[in-house]
Formats: sequence, C-alpha cells, structure tokens
Amino acid sequence: MWRAPVTRLPSHVFRLPASPRCAGTTLRTHPTPVRYPRRGLGQLTQAAALKPSSPKGPRASSAPSHPSKATLDSDDLPIVSLDGRKVAIGWNAETWSRFHNIWLRDHCRCSECFHAVTKQRLFDTFEIPADIQPLDVKAIPEGLQVTWPASTPHISLYPWSWLQTCSYDPPFPHLRPESESKTHQIIWGSKIQQAPPTVTYEEVMESGDFGLYKWLQNIDRFGFSFVNNVPVTTEATEELATRIGFIRETQYGKFWDFTSNMAKGDTAYTDLALSAHTDNTYFTDPAGLQMFHMLSHTEGSGGASLLVDGFYAASILRDLHPESYELLTRIPVPAHAVGEEGCLYRSSPPLGYPVLSVDRSSGALYQVRWNNDDRSVLGHVGGDELEKLYEAMRIWNRLLKISDLEYWVQLTPGTVVIMNNHRVLHGRSAFTGRRRMCGAYIGIDEYTSKLAVLEEKFSSRTSTPSEGQRSVWHPKF
Ligand SMILES: [Zn+2]
Repeated sequence: MWRAPVTRLPSHVFRLPASPRCAGTTLRTHPTPVRYPRRGLGQLTQAAALKPSSPKGPRASSAPSHPSKATLDSDDLPIVSLDGRKVAIGWNAETWSRFHNIWLRDHCRCSECFHAVTKQRLFDTFEIPADIQPLDVKAIPEGLQVTWPASTPHISLYPWSWLQTCSYDPPFPHLRPESESKTHQIIWGSKIQQAPPTVTYEEVMESGDFGLYKWLQNIDRFGFSFVNNVPVTTEATEELATRIGFIRETQYGKFWDFTSNMAKGDTAYTDLALSAHTDNTYFTDPAGLQMFHMLSHTEGSGGASLLVDGFYAASILRDLHPESYELLTRIPVPAHAVGEEGCLYRSSPPLGYPVLSVDRSSGALYQVRWNNDDRSVLGHVGGDELEKLYEAMRIWNRLLKISDLEYWVQLTPGTVVIMNNHRVLHGRSAFTGRRRMCGAYIGIDEYTSKLAVLEEKFSSRTSTPSEGQRSVWHPKF
C-alpha cells in the first residue's frame, strides 16, 4: 500500500484544470512542438497544457499522494498529458510516470485484447503502428482513459494503482515486488543447527495446505527444511514430494531408491565422501529441489549429511574478494555427466554457465552451480584470466569448507531433508555399511509456482492494491 508521506500541494495543482489559464499558471506548457492529433479545445487543454515541471524527467523520490483504492475522487485525480511518444501522469507535483504509447496500447486489458481467464493477449501487437498516438487521454476516477485513433479505433482504461505498480519510467523502487520478495531470505551458517527449519509430516499432508505453505516458506527463506515424523517408506516419501509438484525425472530415474552399489555411474552411488556441491551443473535447468530420506543404515557408520548456504558463502566472497566474485558471476564453467553409457550430458551452451548467476538488472544472486568433480575441460579462458579464475574457484572452495558455514547433520529414518539446489550445496562424509536412501528432484518452476499459489491463498504479501489476485490487472501477468 502506498502510504508514504508527501507534501500536499494546493488542490488546484492536482485537479484537472477548469481552464487552460488555470493550468498554464501552475505548470509549464510543452517546451517543444509536438504533433498532436486533431481534437477539441477541451481535450487540447488537458492533453497539451499540462506538462511535468521537471524538464529532465520525473523523479521517483516520493510516492503518489493518494491512497490505493480502485477509484479516486474527481478532486484528487492525477494530471495526464500527451508527451510525444509517451503519456505522462503526474501523481503530484514531483512524482511523474511516463508510459510509451505503444506500451499502453500493448497492455490494454479490455476483454477484446486480453483473455480474462487465461490472462493471454488476444491481439497481434505487431499490427499496432509503432508510432501510434492516442487521440485523447483523460483522467477519470476509475483510471487513465485512452482513446486510440480511428485507424485502430479503441478505448482503453488503466486503473491508477496498476499504473503506479507498473510504472517503469521511472519505477517506484519501494513498490517493486522483486526487491520485496528477497528481503525475507535468511542466510545462515553452522549455528542453524540450534533451530533448523522443520515441519512435521502431519502438517504437510493435511488437506488445508497451510502446513505445505509453512514447509515451502521454510525452503524459500532458508533454502532447505526438514520434515519430521515421515513414515519410513518409499511410498510416504514419494507422496510427500508430490505435495509440491511433479517429480522431475532424470537419468537417475524418477523417484530414487538407491544404495552404494554403483547402480548409476555417479559417485553419489558409492560410499565415498562428497564435498559440498550442487547437482546437475551440466543441465541448462538444474533440478530446483532435491529431497532425501535415509530409510536405513545397517552394519556400519558415518555418512553425515552436509549443507552449506551458497548465498551466504557468495556474500562473503563478494565482500572480501570482489574481484573473484565478479569473475565467478561472469566466466562460464562447463560441466558434464557421461558415466552412464546411455547418457552424454554436456553444457549447452558449450562453455557452460557461471558458478554464480546474478540478475542483470538488480545484481541479485539467484543461482549457484558448483560441482568441482563434474567440471569439464577449461580452455576458453584466455590470458591472465585463467589463473584468476583458478584463484577465484580456490577461494570459493575454501569458503565452502569453513566450519562456520558448514551444517553437518546425521539423517535418521523418519526425517526428510529438502533443499533448494539453486542455493544450498550438499555433501556427505564417507560411510561404511549399507545405507538405503530414497528421494526425488522437483523442478524449480513447479516449486515456485506452488509457493505462489499458496501465497495467493494464505498471504497478503503478493496481493496488489485494489486488484484481486488473478485479476487481469495483476502486475505480473
Ligand atoms: Zn483493448
């Protein structure tokens, strides 16, 4: 909700002008001639006489002054004006948004343009002239009303709160759902062992889904969660996995039930120690979640499980070794899985992906890919950078082995662990005897979709002001 304090200006600045003179005395007219379509005097007043007072463009320093309700009082309407290839909206004297004409036409959400149920576009964007100009723009209580020219006759209406949420020129930083959604992530080290995120099997399996939501929230915040009191059977474990979504089938099968017999050509199927790694570094889309349940361990010992928060390790790398961090976010590292005769997995693109994937726009880390054992021939890194890359990987590897970052836990029958394979690295110590494990992968998209559905159901965090969830005005559809 937009409740940030702003300086209220005299009401005539906010109100649509009663006459051109009134508007002209408070706001400058357009500095350069613009081709406006022919229109009546009243429309010209509204469209051409009002103009953002800052010639360099709007600032997003303050929030819109009015509350986010579906309609506004007519005394409190924003100022709207045509501004060449854009429509400008003045929320108050200091805060303006501009929307390109083509963007507005492309984002019409009327029933002719957008399917209310599927939320899919129903027209061909590229039949719209690239230089389309509104015939008229009008501020009405329900939103911005745009009348399009006779060549493509149409009237569009965009709710005010939707325009604020979607404002991109400039954006409202405090309204960005992306930045909001990251703030609840909790990075952790070895002390997590004092209170690791845990839910019970009964909670997760209850029909109301709130326990499932609690489980997925744990994974979202911490990158992993335990589930206690799970019946020690493959059937119950598989049923637990499918509470989240489809099981992701890979060369290792669908639902796994394995022991250290080299049934698959991978060191996971041995009794060797495995250092902290993520799985599927050779896939374009590594599995999102990974679930393990140790069903039994007889005639031996060892085999403790290791979890390391890759986001925590990366944050330390970024702070202490920014050059290494930059290299690991930029230089791709190839990987492969070829231990099975019927499989020949190699990175696509051939050079692979960086160890640390960051979002180009926000700089936020969103994926860790690291398995030194699966790494392929490095040959494309030229000059000084090869040694710098080795140095960066050496530092990264050292960080992953710091005891303050390592969370060691001995799994026991009845306790399932699930981790986000894009964030949390896992490993194990060597063991003796016979250990029977079962588990599964779940795709990252199935997991994030299920979490979003449950947030819709239980949380107000994702609901947008004045629009219902799954409305055509959802800012992400
Ligand atoms: Zn339309």
